[in-house]
Amino acid sequence: MIIMSVPRFWRQQVARYNLVGTHCKKCGEYFYPPRDMCPDCRREGEIEDFKFKGTGEIVTYTVIHTAAEGFEGQTPYVLGIIKLDEGPQLTTQIIGIADEMEIGMKVKPVFRKLGEDGESGMIYYGTKFVPA
Ligand SMILES: [Zn+2]
Repeated sequence: MIIMSVPRFWRQQVARYNLVGTHCKKCGEYFYPPRDMCPDCRREGEIEDFKFKGTGEIVTYTVIHTAAEGFEGQTPYVLGIIKLDEGPQLTTQIIGIADEMEIGMKVKPVFRKLGEDGESGMIYYGTKFVPA
């Protein structure tokens, strides 16, 4: 198990939840998490930062009953794999009723509280998903 300080944990969460990836201008491929080099174009590639709109569809999902550190008090919640319209897939929280979700359902992004750091009192926000 890796022990990390709370602020670093939250910096990573916020980056993860802000949907910033990269795009190769040469071949048109999108990457999330971001890649610095396009695996197809290699040195020929032209990589730029890309902020995803966040619309996509549910590939699969599961209901989580045991919270990860920093997410206590939020269980049960739905963790799913979303395929963004641009192609990349990501693991994320989907807000809503699990019984009403299904594979292939369209989702859209919402800006929500991710959690808070009890020691500093800081509240962190990022993107989550809801059925569209
Ligand atoms: Zn490329």
